[in-house]
Amino acid sequence: MLSIKSLGKSYDKLRVLKDINLEINTKDIVALIGPSGSGKSTLLKCLNFLEPYDEGEVHFNGELVGYSKSASKVRKMAPQAEINRLRTRMGMVFQNFNLFPHMTLIENVIEGPVHVLKKPADEVRQMATELLHRVGLGDKLDVKPTRLSGGQQQRAAIARSLAMKPELMLFDEPTSALDPELVGEVLAVMRDLAGDGMTMVIVTHEMSFAREVASRVVFMEGGYLVEDGSAEQIFTAPMNPRTKSFLSRVN
Ligand code: ADP
Ligand code: MG
Repeated sequence: MLSIKSLGKSYDKLRVLKDINLEINTKDIVALIGPSGSGKSTLLKCLNFLEPYDEGEVHFNGELVGYSKSASKVRKMAPQAEINRLRTRMGMVFQNFNLFPHMTLIENVIEGPVHVLKKPADEVRQMATELLHRVGLGDKLDVKPTRLSGGQQQRAAIARSLAMKPELMLFDEPTSALDPELVGEVLAVMRDLAGDGMTMVIVTHEMSFAREVASRVVFMEGGYLVEDGSAEQIFTAPMNPRTKSFLSRVN
């Protein structure tokens, strides 16, 4: 589904992604782990047109995604309409929810499908109601995000992403801004999605969740993809000493 080949990226003179190669197959659930500053967020941003990359190529179901500042083979800039179209196929959930504060939850969920995908409002309202029920917010349809807990806001943000019917979901530390007692309810929604066969890439520090839900674990450090293996293998017998050292520090 997603094929990342020799991806490289710098912020000015700082090289933050170095020759990243990664293949993600349909229904994979990939936990992307590694120390702070290792390039995990930047990697997700390169996939979703939030940052340009400098080297390599990324293909999503055969289509070139992301854009490049300098590579000769890859487009320098993609037309906005194409960016929007490709972005809708990859849902992204960030640490800080990013809901529209002036809109109710149902308005937040309806917005994309109606305005970006131009779907009929009645049909979208029905789907949005179902999605908010699915994430446990069926009684909060007409409430604004500021009246909700962080966990509720993050569940609404996931529902809003799902309303676009993405083929792949990218999560960047979705629970790290939450009070500890609210983490579980968001992980439960993600677990449900995983059980439903959604393809997911999850940047997380929740190692027990990664161990339970991920089919694969990718460890990054210093801009390198250090190790890529099954969750079972990485957590029980990491091959690279740096993976081992990281896991012994976080567990
Ligand atoms: P992670 O998500 O693994 O913590 P990031 O991808 O956020 O890592 O960051 C990787 C490196 O890139 C870090 O050294 C960080 O300071 C740097 N970096 C991230 N974003 C920017 C930016 N917009 N401008 C300059 N440097 C950045
Ligand atoms: Mg990050």
